[in-house]
Amino acid sequence: MEVRAKKALGQHFLTDQKVARAIVDALACHSEPSCHSERSEESPLPVLEVGPGMGVLTQYLLERSDIDLRLIEIDSESVEYLLTHFPGMQGRLMEGDFLKLKLEKLFPERFAVIGNFPYNISSQIFFKILDNKDRIPEVVGMVQKEVAERIAEGPGSKTYGILSVLLQAWYDIEYLFTVGSGCFAPPPKVESAVIRLRRNARTSLGCDEALFKTVVKTAFGQRRKMMRNPLRPLARAKADRLGWSEDELAAFLAQEVFSLRPEKLSVEDFVALTRQLG
Ligand code: SAH
Repeated sequence: MEVRAKKALGQHFLTDQKVARAIVDALACHSEPSCHSERSEESPLPVLEVGPGMGVLTQYLLERSDIDLRLIEIDSESVEYLLTHFPGMQGRLMEGDFLKLKLEKLFPERFAVIGNFPYNISSQIFFKILDNKDRIPEVVGMVQKEVAERIAEGPGSKTYGILSVLLQAWYDIEYLFTVGSGCFAPPPKVESAVIRLRRNARTSLGCDEALFKTVVKTAFGQRRKMMRNPLRPLARAKADRLGWSEDELAAFLAQEVFSLRPEKLSVEDFVALTRQLG
């Protein structure tokens, strides 16, 4: 018996074996020097597969001796399917919501993430990855094509946004390949794409990290406007803190950078802006 696809869980099962193999092959961590330095040949890197469904990626992941596979699946029917079809699933497979997982408890050390992500929660998955960025050296994920573009593209692009800046601050991102909707059952309405994220060498931003997130999110809250509008409250908070007059606040906000739209700013520009607002 196959799993009946449930729309609410974003279930579109990948049926193309070549694509499945290519996704698993894209997980490159075994050849990463940064991974090697922290684990010996005998201790495989823990890898978490999000939403294995009927196991199209799982089958190839289980073939790899360089990874220690764990799985999280929310759908009990899929869990049952995996337990019957894959020997050795017991103890690896958790039934539950990835977004609620206590990753710091399950994976106190480094681990990678892979999955054909449920598209309805793909942004939330990436925000959770960001919260654990220092223990996640690599992510390979299939997402809606637009989301892949948003994450991978740089300043100036129409799709550049909050996730692009926050992820690009910490990860090198590659758009690997596009996957047509015919590769799935049932076919999704949109095209899909596979991306790979590898943690860059950055250890600190050079500005307050929490404020950086706030600045990016606030600036993109009104992406079509000059940043002066959305960022005014943050500038005012600084003015209050430092006891500036209205004129001083106006002079501060008259700076060139506040006339730009957020989509023009690189990660470094946002870092500089955060320093100014801090
Ligand atoms: N990897 C499979 C299934 C992809 S569809 C394939 O490629 O065919 C997305 C999968 O994520 C489904 O199995 C769905 O049940 C699961 N899922 C949806 N929301 C989830 C969540 N919050 N946590 C864990 N798994 C989830």
